[in-house]
Amino acid sequence: MVESGSADLLAPASLKKFLHPPSLPGNAGHLLLRSPPEAKQAVGKDLEKFKQRLSLLDYLQQQNWVARPASHGHEFVGLCPLHQEIRPSFYVNARKNLFYCHGCGQGGDLLRFVQLSRHLSFRQSLAYLEQQSAPPTDPADVLEQAATFYQQQLDRYPEARCYLKQRGLHDPALIRELRIGYAPGGNLRRHLTAQGYSFDLLQRLGLLNSQGHDAFYRRVVFPCSLGGRIINLYGRNIAAAFAHRFLPGPKGGLYSWEQVQHCSEVILVEGLFDYAVLWQAGFRHVTCSLGTHLNACQFQQLCDHPRTIYLTFDVDANGSGQQASQQLAHRLQAQGIATRRVLLPDGQDPNSFFVQGGDAQQFRSLLEAAQP
Ligand SMILES: [Zn+2]
Repeated sequence: MVESGSADLLAPASLKKFLHPPSLPGNAGHLLLRSPPEAKQAVGKDLEKFKQRLSLLDYLQQQNWVARPASHGHEFVGLCPLHQEIRPSFYVNARKNLFYCHGCGQGGDLLRFVQLSRHLSFRQSLAYLEQQSAPPTDPADVLEQAATFYQQQLDRYPEARCYLKQRGLHDPALIRELRIGYAPGGNLRRHLTAQGYSFDLLQRLGLLNSQGHDAFYRRVVFPCSLGGRIINLYGRNIAAAFAHRFLPGPKGGLYSWEQVQHCSEVILVEGLFDYAVLWQAGFRHVTCSLGTHLNACQFQQLCDHPRTIYLTFDVDANGSGQQASQQLAHRLQAQGIATRRVLLPDGQDPNSFFVQGGDAQQFRSLLEAAQP
């Protein structure tokens, strides 16, 4: 039906309004013609935001739409993405941000195009475009914001301070240095979405659960960094339930490895509260594997340089900590790394050792007594 020429010349009068809507108050007004009235107010701001970031033509080209200029200045023509055709009848007016297809008769703006091409509702299309047009966000930036927010919460919740005290952590310098925070639950989402982070992104990072609530609830939080960037958060429940939790995604390397990698002797512990009490007692050549099972990156770090590793895993009743310690010692020795197994009193871990009155001198004696 359409051989050549512009949409302007060939479109029936009733359709020309898509390309040249003279009576409409600009694109925004036109855009909202199709939305239900209650949606207008709620989404008006969002619409304006993404329209400034993403034009219809840019979007189509991102979707690999191939076009050539039509005879009118701001018009482009190509094959219709909405129906099968062999001759181009899909016109886009780049200035007005509108399209019209002479083949299938569909026309409208970017939002309408998304609705038709992806079979989405008005609101779904809006959410989709919001995501498409958002500037790329570095997950480390979001985790940085979350960690800072949790740090600020620590002073506002006495139960969090109380828990730290119970676990033997009282030095403000330690709390500041390790950036320990508190997630009361129920307020991170509001804080981060107000800063412009999308709900979808927060959910993808695991900061929000599938119901959209804060994933960390009543947890003391330690940020875990790699190369100076936060890559995960560890949350310790201050009640007993589901004690340990990380965000989905990798834990990365050994905790605070950059600070000990040049030490010839390194103390390895399995938990962050073990790490923290040792740091507080003045032992700075400590690192933590965040569990007894080391990932490939962590194991590689321990082996990258000749050094002695003091394995200081829990001495728990079922012997699992000591079993893991023994296996790790063998693997490290096979790589030429010297190991010493630090034997804590029965049933203890480094954290409980200090909480129950152990001091730096006593711990130093345990290090000296450690067996190869
Ligand atoms: Zn079409």
